[in-house]
Amino acid sequence: MRLAALGFSHETNTFAPTPTDLAEFEASGIARGDEIVRRHRGAHSTMAGFLEASEKLGFEIVPLIFAQTEPSGMITKRAFDQIVGEMLDLLRRHGPWDGVLLANHGAAVSEEYSDVDGEIAARVRALVGPKVPIGISLDLHGNLTQRMVENVTVTTLYRTNPHLDPAPRAFECAEIVVRTIKGEVDPVQALETPPLVINIVKQFTGEEPMKSVMADCAAVLARPGILTAGVAEGYPYADVPEMGMSFLAVHDGDPTAARDAARWLARRAWERRADFVGEVPSPSEALKMAANAPKGPVVLMDVGDNIGGGSPADSTILLAEAKRQGVRRYLQTLYDPEAVATCVAAGVGADLTLRVGAKTDRLHGEPVEVTGHVRLISDGRFEERRPIHGGGRYFNGGTTVVLETADEHTLVLTSRRIGNTSIEQMYSLGIRPEEKQVVVAKGVVSPRPAYEPIAAQIILVNTPGVTTADLSFFAYHHRRRPLFPFEPEARYE
Ligand SMILES: [Zn+2]
Repeated sequence: MRLAALGFSHETNTFAPTPTDLAEFEASGIARGDEIVRRHRGAHSTMAGFLEASEKLGFEIVPLIFAQTEPSGMITKRAFDQIVGEMLDLLRRHGPWDGVLLANHGAAVSEEYSDVDGEIAARVRALVGPKVPIGISLDLHGNLTQRMVENVTVTTLYRTNPHLDPAPRAFECAEIVVRTIKGEVDPVQALETPPLVINIVKQFTGEEPMKSVMADCAAVLARPGILTAGVAEGYPYADVPEMGMSFLAVHDGDPTAARDAARWLARRAWERRADFVGEVPSPSEALKMAANAPKGPVVLMDVGDNIGGGSPADSTILLAEAKRQGVRRYLQTLYDPEAVATCVAAGVGADLTLRVGAKTDRLHGEPVEVTGHVRLISDGRFEERRPIHGGGRYFNGGTTVVLETADEHTLVLTSRRIGNTSIEQMYSLGIRPEEKQVVVAKGVVSPRPAYEPIAAQIILVNTPGVTTADLSFFAYHHRRRPLFPFEPEARYE
């Protein structure tokens, strides 16, 4: 039994000003063949799950190509054509296949296609024909479409946010594909897409309201004949018709049972919709709370500069406010290759005054003038072995500078956009976040596995930016109307 494994994984923030071109994917490293195995075997990623399934279930896996880059702006037509063209070419040249495994995200948008993942699924289906089982394993931030589901045999979705289960969900996907090839099961999928959006600050699956939604999902999984089920929280920063939550159930052979299960999940979530609306403190309120907390570190989630959601990683909103309030023992990262170059030129031990951050656009504050001391310069590479959001292991923030400022702020200046999903990012620079009063983590949920173990408290902050929790900030042109909570009168029968 011979299965192809390939993927094109991107979460596209259509409000981010800079498009995502081929160079972005190439900079992150498009992996082909054995390179996929080298990067993913033993990791916690979707590809890792496919590889593990091949070993444990005894099928031959042929990794073809995997392209992925950090969430960012609209994918250019050129990037789509090049990568998807190569995916299909490899599938054609190395076939025929008993099955195909796709490692996508589910919220990719290109200049040409609002549903990139559906387009890829349709092209793969057209190429391999109607009889070859195709499995796709998606992120729970996918904006799932009927087109995605109709063109594959089985879809699996992460069930945790932060994402700690990409590998087991991919394993599950591969297992259902293998059982389908053997004729043991006949997956029938149902997708329900009520007009419903859950605010980003309510998406942590370890707390309400998502805890109950995922308990419903577990109840569906326990129903007889259900092969898999999932809830996609959706990705609100993509201005596409399908933006929103979706509910998936896959039954062995019975379309009615699949549809009933998906509709039951959707209805139960719909009834809870009042709890999906988020309200979080302003930067000034959050910093006051954090500075006055009896015990540190207080981790402030910079929601508006959620790098995992496609933001520029250089917001200075919280830094400027911390300076204004005189907050001490404060730690944060900032993407600023220009400031890094200035510090590198000055050298370790140098004292200097410079303007940092907010250089990508005008949506994330203004550059902040700081006076500080260059304590350390690093190549920005670190390895994380703990299970973290997304399952990555090797990280590269580019040349990185640790600047200790006169305000008693520790600023980690990076020359690549990098999130705060790994505490090793700090340990590798000799920084102990445990000893700080305030630690900024750019993200909403993804930094939790890294910072929950050390945080005295976590506060989500309503910072402005391309990933702000306040969705009224964005001008949507393509989303569905009515859609809750934008139009509170939206109905779902
Ligand atoms: Zn996600």
